[in-house]
Amino acid sequence: MKRKDISIPVEQPKRSNPLANVFDELMDFCRSRSMFMLHYCTGCGAIELPPAMTSRFDMERLGIQPMVTPRQADILLITGYVSIKTLKRVIMTYEQMASPKYVVGICSCTVNGGMYWQSYATAKVLKDYLPVDIYIAGCMPRPEAVIEGLRELMSDIKQGKANSWQRYYKNYDYYLGNQQKLFGDNWQTPTDIIAEARHYNLISEQTEGKHTAVLQQHQKPLEAFEARLKHQQGQAREQ
Ligand code: SF4
Repeated sequence: MKRKDISIPVEQPKRSNPLANVFDELMDFCRSRSMFMLHYCTGCGAIELPPAMTSRFDMERLGIQPMVTPRQADILLITGYVSIKTLKRVIMTYEQMASPKYVVGICSCTVNGGMYWQSYATAKVLKDYLPVDIYIAGCMPRPEAVIEGLRELMSDIKQGKANSWQRYYKNYDYYLGNQQKLFGDNWQTPTDIIAEARHYNLISEQTEGKHTAVLQQHQKPLEAFEARLKHQQGQAREQ
Protein backbone atom coordinates (compact mmCIF):
# COMPACT_ATOMS: atom_id res chain seq x y z
CA MET A 1 0.00 0.00 0.00
CA LYS A 2 1.38 3.41 -0.94
CA ARG A 3 0.39 6.76 0.46
CA LYS A 4 1.46 10.18 -0.73
CA ASP A 5 2.16 12.97 1.69
CA ILE A 6 -0.82 15.24 1.18
CA SER A 7 -0.62 17.16 4.46
CA ILE A 8 0.44 20.37 2.73
CA PRO A 9 -0.74 20.90 -0.86
CA VAL A 10 1.89 20.73 -3.58
CA GLU A 11 1.87 23.72 -5.86
CA GLN A 12 2.58 23.13 -9.51
CA PRO A 13 5.39 25.31 -10.92
CA LYS A 14 4.24 28.07 -13.30
CA ARG A 15 5.35 27.48 -16.88
CA SER A 16 4.47 30.57 -18.88
CA ASN A 17 7.26 30.47 -21.50
CA PRO A 18 6.50 27.67 -24.05
CA LEU A 19 10.20 27.01 -24.68
CA ALA A 20 10.89 26.77 -20.94
CA ASN A 21 7.92 24.43 -20.73
CA VAL A 22 9.45 22.03 -23.26
CA PHE A 23 12.84 22.25 -21.57
CA ASP A 24 11.30 21.58 -18.12
CA GLU A 25 9.47 18.53 -19.44
CA LEU A 26 12.66 17.21 -21.01
CA MET A 27 14.55 17.75 -17.75
CA ASP A 28 11.80 16.02 -15.76
CA PHE A 29 11.89 13.05 -18.15
CA CYS A 30 15.70 12.75 -17.88
CA ARG A 31 15.57 13.10 -14.10
CA SER A 32 12.99 10.34 -13.79
CA ARG A 33 15.21 7.93 -15.79
CA SER A 34 18.45 8.53 -13.92
CA MET A 35 18.15 8.57 -10.17
CA PHE A 36 20.81 8.07 -7.56
CA MET A 37 19.49 6.78 -4.30
CA LEU A 38 20.94 7.25 -0.85
CA HIS A 39 19.46 4.56 1.36
CA TYR A 40 19.49 5.53 4.99
CA CYS A 41 18.91 2.13 6.54
CA THR A 42 17.31 3.17 9.80
CA GLY A 43 15.05 0.16 10.49
CA CYS A 44 14.43 -3.49 9.67
CA GLY A 45 12.77 -2.66 6.32
CA ALA A 46 16.30 -2.24 4.89
CA ILE A 47 16.50 -6.03 4.60
CA GLU A 48 14.23 -5.90 1.54
CA LEU A 49 16.58 -3.59 -0.36
CA PRO A 50 19.29 -6.13 -1.34
CA PRO A 51 16.77 -8.33 -3.28
CA ALA A 52 15.25 -5.17 -4.83
CA MET A 53 18.69 -4.02 -5.98
CA THR A 54 20.18 -7.32 -7.11
CA SER A 55 19.48 -9.67 -10.02
CA ARG A 56 16.00 -10.94 -9.04
CA PHE A 57 14.25 -7.56 -9.14
CA ASP A 58 17.12 -5.51 -10.61
CA MET A 59 16.27 -1.94 -9.66
CA GLU A 60 19.03 -0.66 -11.97
CA ARG A 61 16.99 -1.56 -15.06
CA LEU A 62 14.76 1.40 -14.08
CA GLY A 63 17.76 3.75 -13.96
CA ILE A 64 17.95 3.76 -10.15
CA GLN A 65 21.32 3.15 -8.56
CA PRO A 66 22.70 3.40 -5.03
CA MET A 67 24.85 6.42 -4.19
CA VAL A 68 27.17 6.77 -1.25
CA THR A 69 27.12 10.52 -0.63
CA PRO A 70 24.23 12.95 -0.12
CA ARG A 71 25.74 15.57 -2.44
CA GLN A 72 25.29 13.34 -5.50
CA ALA A 73 22.02 11.67 -4.48
CA ASP A 74 18.51 12.45 -5.76
CA ILE A 75 16.45 10.14 -3.54
CA LEU A 76 16.69 9.75 0.22
CA LEU A 77 15.27 6.37 1.17
CA ILE A 78 14.32 5.95 4.84
CA THR A 79 13.79 2.28 5.56
CA GLY A 80 11.88 2.04 8.81
CA TYR A 81 11.56 3.50 12.28
CA VAL A 82 13.75 6.52 12.97
CA SER A 83 15.10 7.11 16.46
CA ILE A 84 15.25 10.73 17.61
CA LYS A 85 19.03 10.62 17.54
CA THR A 86 19.04 9.22 14.00
CA LEU A 87 16.45 11.73 12.79
CA LYS A 88 18.95 14.54 13.41
CA ARG A 89 21.39 12.83 11.02
CA VAL A 90 18.61 12.16 8.52
CA ILE A 91 17.65 15.86 8.46
CA MET A 92 21.28 16.96 8.10
CA THR A 93 21.71 14.44 5.26
CA TYR A 94 18.57 15.68 3.52
CA GLU A 95 19.69 19.29 3.78
CA GLN A 96 23.05 18.42 2.21
CA MET A 97 21.41 16.96 -0.90
CA ALA A 98 21.15 19.17 -3.96
CA SER A 99 17.65 20.14 -5.14
CA PRO A 100 15.49 18.79 -6.67
CA LYS A 101 15.50 15.89 -4.21
CA TYR A 102 12.95 13.31 -3.19
CA VAL A 103 12.18 11.45 0.05
CA VAL A 104 10.74 7.94 0.12
CA GLY A 105 9.50 6.50 3.43
CA ILE A 106 9.56 2.70 3.45
CA CYS A 107 7.68 0.73 6.16
CA SER A 108 4.67 1.57 8.32
CA CYS A 109 7.00 2.92 10.99
CA THR A 110 7.72 5.97 8.81
CA VAL A 111 3.99 6.59 8.26
CA ASN A 112 2.70 6.57 11.84
CA GLY A 113 5.31 5.01 14.10
CA GLY A 114 4.19 1.44 13.33
CA MET A 115 4.79 -0.97 16.17
CA TYR A 116 6.97 1.69 17.86
CA TRP A 117 4.13 4.21 18.06
CA GLN A 118 4.37 4.27 21.87
CA SER A 119 8.16 4.38 22.03
CA TYR A 120 9.73 7.40 23.73
CA ALA A 121 12.80 7.08 21.52
CA THR A 122 11.40 7.21 17.98
CA ALA A 123 9.98 9.92 15.74
CA LYS A 124 6.51 8.77 14.75
CA VAL A 125 5.50 10.60 11.57
CA LEU A 126 8.35 11.28 9.16
CA LYS A 127 6.44 13.87 7.13
CA ASP A 128 6.29 16.17 10.17
CA TYR A 129 10.05 16.69 9.91
CA LEU A 130 10.82 16.26 6.21
CA PRO A 131 8.67 16.52 3.08
CA VAL A 132 7.94 12.94 1.98
CA ASP A 133 7.15 12.24 -1.70
CA ILE A 134 6.03 8.63 -1.43
CA TYR A 135 5.34 6.24 1.41
CA ILE A 136 5.65 2.51 0.80
CA ALA A 137 3.80 1.05 3.75
CA GLY A 138 3.96 -2.49 5.12
CA CYS A 139 5.80 -4.31 7.86
CA MET A 140 7.97 -4.82 5.92
CA PRO A 141 7.05 -4.12 2.27
CA ARG A 142 8.13 -6.75 -0.25
CA PRO A 143 10.67 -5.82 -2.95
CA GLU A 144 7.82 -5.75 -5.51
CA ALA A 145 6.15 -3.00 -3.46
CA VAL A 146 9.45 -1.08 -3.18
CA ILE A 147 9.90 -1.24 -6.98
CA GLU A 148 6.27 -0.23 -7.56
CA GLY A 149 6.65 2.74 -5.18
CA LEU A 150 9.79 3.90 -6.95
CA ARG A 151 8.04 3.56 -10.33
CA GLU A 152 5.28 5.79 -9.03
CA LEU A 153 7.88 8.32 -7.91
CA MET A 154 9.44 8.18 -11.40
CA SER A 155 6.03 8.83 -12.93
CA ASP A 156 5.45 11.82 -10.60
CA ILE A 157 8.88 13.25 -11.46
CA LYS A 158 8.21 12.82 -15.18
CA GLN A 159 4.91 14.68 -14.85
CA GLY A 160 6.53 17.45 -12.79
CA LYS A 161 4.44 16.55 -9.72
CA ALA A 162 7.23 15.56 -7.32
CA ASN A 163 7.72 18.99 -5.78
CA SER A 164 8.04 18.13 -2.10
CA TRP A 165 11.54 19.65 -1.96
CA GLN A 166 9.94 23.03 -2.69
CA ARG A 167 7.64 22.56 0.29
CA TYR A 168 10.64 22.36 2.61
CA TYR A 169 11.69 25.86 1.56
CA LYS A 170 8.19 27.30 1.40
CA ASN A 171 7.14 25.88 4.79
CA TYR A 172 10.51 25.84 6.54
CA ASP A 173 9.12 27.42 9.70
CA TYR A 174 6.62 24.53 10.05
CA TYR A 175 9.29 21.84 9.65
CA LEU A 176 11.76 23.66 11.89
CA GLY A 177 9.05 24.07 14.56
CA ASN A 178 8.43 20.31 14.61
CA GLN A 179 12.16 19.66 14.73
CA GLN A 180 12.57 22.11 17.63
CA LYS A 181 9.73 20.40 19.54
CA LEU A 182 11.63 17.14 19.32
CA PHE A 183 15.24 18.26 19.69
CA GLY A 184 14.90 21.42 21.76
CA ASP A 185 15.02 25.12 20.95
CA ASN A 186 18.75 25.18 20.33
CA TRP A 187 18.49 22.77 17.37
CA GLN A 188 20.36 23.96 14.28
CA THR A 189 22.00 22.43 11.22
CA PRO A 190 24.97 23.69 9.20
CA THR A 191 22.77 24.48 6.16
CA ASP A 192 21.27 27.94 5.72
CA ILE A 193 17.85 26.94 4.41
CA ILE A 194 16.51 30.50 4.26
CA ALA A 195 19.41 31.59 2.03
CA GLU A 196 18.79 28.54 -0.18
CA ALA A 197 15.08 29.39 -0.38
CA ARG A 198 16.07 32.88 -1.58
CA HIS A 199 18.45 31.34 -4.10
CA TYR A 200 15.68 29.16 -5.59
CA ASN A 201 13.17 32.00 -5.35
CA LEU A 202 11.02 29.84 -3.08
CA ILE A 203 10.57 32.25 -0.19
CA SER A 204 6.98 32.30 1.02
CA GLU A 205 5.18 33.75 4.02
CA GLN A 206 5.71 30.44 5.82
CA THR A 207 9.44 30.23 5.17
CA GLU A 208 10.24 32.44 8.15
CA GLY A 209 8.31 32.74 11.39
CA LYS A 210 8.62 32.38 15.14
CA HIS A 211 10.69 29.19 14.89
CA THR A 212 13.25 30.60 12.46
CA ALA A 213 13.46 33.63 14.78
CA VAL A 214 14.51 31.27 17.60
CA LEU A 215 17.10 29.72 15.28
CA GLN A 216 18.50 33.12 14.36
CA GLN A 217 18.79 34.03 18.04
CA HIS A 218 21.00 30.98 18.56
CA GLN A 219 23.14 31.80 15.58
CA LYS A 220 23.80 35.35 16.79
CA PRO A 221 26.14 34.48 19.69
CA LEU A 222 28.18 32.43 17.23
CA GLU A 223 28.38 35.41 14.86
CA ALA A 224 29.55 37.62 17.72
CA PHE A 225 32.16 35.05 18.66
CA GLU A 226 33.40 34.85 15.06
CA ALA A 227 33.53 38.66 14.83
CA ARG A 228 35.51 38.79 18.09
CA LEU A 229 37.87 36.12 16.79
CA LYS A 230 38.43 38.03 13.53
CA HIS A 231 39.04 41.23 15.50
CA GLN A 232 41.60 39.48 17.75
CA GLN A 233 43.32 37.92 14.72
CA GLY A 234 43.48 41.37 13.08
CA GLN A 235 45.03 42.86 16.22
CA ALA A 236 47.57 40.02 16.45
CA ARG A 237 48.60 40.63 12.80
CA GLU A 238 49.08 44.36 13.44
CA GLN A 239 51.39 43.73 16.40
S1 SF4 B 1 7.35 -1.40 9.72
FE1 SF4 B 1 7.96 -3.38 10.58
S2 SF4 B 1 9.72 -4.02 9.33
FE2 SF4 B 1 9.43 -1.83 9.00
S3 SF4 B 1 10.80 -0.81 10.45
FE3 SF4 B 1 8.76 -0.97 11.39
S4 SF4 B 1 8.84 -2.85 12.57
FE4 SF4 B 1 10.54 -2.94 11.13
